[in-house]
Amino acid sequence: MLSDAIAVARVGNASPKPAADGLGVHFAHFCEQLRCDAALGEYGVQSLVHRVIQVQSLAGGQVVSVRAQWNGAFLRGAYAAGMTLIVLWDIDHTLIDNAGVSKEIYAAAFETVTGARPAKPAVTEGRTDRLIMRGLFRRNGVDEPEWPQVETALAEAGEERREVLRERGTALPGVREALKEASVHEGWVSSVLTGNIAANARVKLAAFGLDGLLDLPVGAYGADAEERPHLVDIARRRIHRDRGLPIDTPVVLVGDTPRDVEAALASGAHVIAVATGVDSPSALAAAGAPVVLPDLADTDRVLRRLEDVERGENVPGTS
Ligand SMILES: [Mg+2]
Repeated sequence: MLSDAIAVARVGNASPKPAADGLGVHFAHFCEQLRCDAALGEYGVQSLVHRVIQVQSLAGGQVVSVRAQWNGAFLRGAYAAGMTLIVLWDIDHTLIDNAGVSKEIYAAAFETVTGARPAKPAVTEGRTDRLIMRGLFRRNGVDEPEWPQVETALAEAGEERREVLRERGTALPGVREALKEASVHEGWVSSVLTGNIAANARVKLAAFGLDGLLDLPVGAYGADAEERPHLVDIARRRIHRDRGLPIDTPVVLVGDTPRDVEAALASGAHVIAVATGVDSPSALAAAGAPVVLPDLADTDRVLRRLEDVERGENVPGTS
């Protein structure tokens, strides 16, 4: 008698990962059949009857997760045609140059909730919006208001600066091409891991037409946690739940600060650092980044590095 199980089959890899009592092997056949006819219903596989309860697939059909009944037990799993990878991009100074608009958003939100302009500016450096605003209140000698009030003020301030961001800011070199390639790569989910609240992340990306190149609903944002490392597991779980990728799918963060690097190292993720922010390549390497790129301008190079991670290779050294 089988108990509830999670089976993960990766057809195209060397072999399916076994779950319980060889269930993974059965599941591989099961998934192959689903690929041809991914619909709810009953399927006979090796003389066993499976009832499919729920099917999820990505556009293009490369990844399918299923929930099914198997000899009275429930079987859930994910099917991926080939290897899989989760790519999570930081936004500020990795994808875009916000030209100081971010700090204006923090100052405006501060003014909205306190009634006064801050005497001292926000300090960002890869922190989440929650921590940036807490620091701003503290440095200016103000008690920290409730977070929902702060988040609303941040979102309003961001929305009001959509046009000025478009005028003064820019997408960084190669970003559009890199995001485009990652978004269509078979088996990959490409989203964001950012300290920005979700509303402002969308404003910043949409200002430069980048929002449609990312799977934003499964990203992790500054309201989701205070500390950046905690955002990695939040994105990982969202992608497992909503996109069907196995929970142990390799994750790679792409970011410009030591905090991006530290978030990856603390959460079992890989990291590709880009020196398009204030931190030098040597500072990023010193933080532990095995790969530091000068920028994202060379699309082939970026893709090669991501594919290295997918294959389990993350070659040390600046290159
Ligand atoms: Mg950044």
